[in-house]
Amino acid sequence: MNKFAQKLAEHSISLRRGRPEILQVNVGKLCNLTCVHCHVNAGPKRKEIMTRETVDRIIGWLSRTNIPVVDLTGGAPEMIPDFRYFIEKVRSLERSRHVIDRCNLTILLTSGYKDLPQFLADNRVEIIASMPCYSSENVNAQRGDGVFEGSIQALQVLNSLGYGCHPDLPLHLVYNPVGAYLPGPQAELETDYKRELKKHFGIVFNKLYSITNLPIGRFASYLRHSNKLADYMESLINAFNPATVDGLMCRNTISVGWRGEVYDCDFNQQLGMQWKNGTPVFLWDLDPKDTENREILTGDHCFGCTAGAGSSCGGAIV
Ligand code: SF4
Ligand code: SF4
Repeated sequence: MNKFAQKLAEHSISLRRGRPEILQVNVGKLCNLTCVHCHVNAGPKRKEIMTRETVDRIIGWLSRTNIPVVDLTGGAPEMIPDFRYFIEKVRSLERSRHVIDRCNLTILLTSGYKDLPQFLADNRVEIIASMPCYSSENVNAQRGDGVFEGSIQALQVLNSLGYGCHPDLPLHLVYNPVGAYLPGPQAELETDYKRELKKHFGIVFNKLYSITNLPIGRFASYLRHSNKLADYMESLINAFNPATVDGLMCRNTISVGWRGEVYDCDFNQQLGMQWKNGTPVFLWDLDPKDTENREILTGDHCFGCTAGAGSSCGGAIV
């Protein structure tokens, strides 16, 4: 039993799935950036991207479910050739679903993608955008030179299309700590972000999600190389908050990889913890009803989701 499972047992908590409400699809590891905190090890040289055949099989499966939300992530999900095709197919289902694009912002200014903001607005795609700070130094240190300035420009483009202002065009930002520490209180951070981005750049947005960095992927390598891994793990374990368990995203999200494999969450996906029913499970093998009450696969990295106020793709949990 891993330490996280032991901790749940100490608190008499059993971690099982509820009704699936979100299909989170990681369409690949290709990205225009190589951020220090990336848990996907994404970058411009990665070759893993979803094919059209896999997109079609996912859409076919989705059409037989009532799952209301499709959450596209990566890498930079916009960089796969069938990104727009995927969204158009989801939107044209008999029961159209809400689509989320997890966007690094800078991709929207890259040659070949400049008409993408209008496409996203036309398809009423919600944007959840990474913005680890409202100051240039911190963002560029974590994500690369010039990323802050590019992100600001992209946010201004999105605002000009109605994102962050029009109720059909939600724009949320994601904060994650620049180093080996837990995020501060989400509500206070949101107030600071709103004030600073409005004052200096005229930018508006809806919500700020604060997300804890999980000790896997490139962030784990960074912690190991700077001799901080043990201390960081200890701080996550010491901050375990049982009240967060009910709201963990693995309870209502099905995570799918670029080949259609199924996981409990994107973190488990990066650790190769694919579901198995005797053999490895792909989405099209799955009866959606069979996911309910299924036991969730855990590891020590799960302490990142239950520390302090908790952490999920929708920010703090409690
Ligand atoms: S954190 Fe996001 S933007 Fe940065 S390298 Fe990873 S996938 Fe790309
Ligand atoms: S990493 Fe977080 S979301 Fe994933 S299984 Fe563990 S607790 Fe759940």
